[in-house]
Amino acid sequence: MNPPIPFLAATGYPATQQWIAALQEAMPGERIVTLSQLNDADKAECTLAIVANPSPVDLKQLPQLLWVHSVWAGVERLVADLKQTQAELKIVRLIDPQLAETMAEAVLAWTLYLHRDMPGYIRQQRQKLWQPLPAVRAQERTVGLLGMGVLGEATAQRLHAANFKVRGWSRERKALANVECFAGYVELQSMLAATDILVCLLPLTEHTTGLLNAQTLGWLPVGARLINFARGPIIDDAALLSALNSGHIGHAVLDVFAVEPLPQDQWQWTHPQVSVLPHCSAPTHHKTASAIVASNIQAFRSSGLIPASVDTQAGY
Ligand code: NAP
Repeated sequence: MNPPIPFLAATGYPATQQWIAALQEAMPGERIVTLSQLNDADKAECTLAIVANPSPVDLKQLPQLLWVHSVWAGVERLVADLKQTQAELKIVRLIDPQLAETMAEAVLAWTLYLHRDMPGYIRQQRQKLWQPLPAVRAQERTVGLLGMGVLGEATAQRLHAANFKVRGWSRERKALANVECFAGYVELQSMLAATDILVCLLPLTEHTTGLLNAQTLGWLPVGARLINFARGPIIDDAALLSALNSGHIGHAVLDVFAVEPLPQDQWQWTHPQVSVLPHCSAPTHHKTASAIVASNIQAFRSSGLIPASVDTQAGY
């Protein structure tokens, strides 16, 4: 009989019971519990846990833990926390095709918002101004994707299907149909130079923190638009504000911020060229995510092999 599997989340996380119910349904042969439901003997036997931004102090209560399965695709905070406390613990992140499709849909929606200049029409309506703005065909518009991982690839195909020209940037060069591929910092400038709408889908690492700064934003053409659906600190906020005010960046759609929820006194809330979203571009779907977690745990139970885990040195 396998020991129970604890579900560990941040203190006050409101969806713990919803996750436990979905995970339990996906794994009827396992017992999914909260940490407080484990007795000392159970705690001593647990080799795996399912996590949603857990407290490192809670993880420390499980001395035999070998790996954790995150229910999120982005595990930046967990990687950083564990680096300090339990560097040897393996982190398996969620790779859910449904989540990638949800992200692709969100990027397409907001790309179309910018492509059809909806911010411009909103401004004109406020002025009761009846005036068509210049029309550009999708095939004349280049969308540049920073990050060509699980989310970037699905998004690139969706944008191509909507007739946009698509460029993608990653660390290692990709060979993808319908995408002009760029790799490494040396190719970032040429990638950005012909990008009309820039979409950020990078993980937050030591190399991507502040990647979009005064210099790199300056490599974009005048009037380029920006969508950040990845992590807030990838953008240097002061540089973005200055680029928006000078008109170098025409509009920014921001779903993620250095501090979330975005504090009331932050400039992004009221800037006329910014659309603020509450970190909602690609929410995890409990049911599809639980099925994926269940199949990874089933594979581990039968083979004893930990599924492919995050490269904690690279940070993603
Ligand atoms: P992934 O599969 O790990 O892909 C990451 C991509 O970024 C890879 O193509 C990688 O290049 C590239 N990359 C990483 N560091 C780089 C660097 N220094 N220079 C150039 N390229 C670099 O990740 P994913 O599943 O697509 O998710 C990406 C991020 O989206 C997550 O980390 C998370 O922060 C964010 N996210 C946001 C939401 C939301 O609701 N807003 C939801 C889910 C995820 P290689 O291919 O060469 O390794």
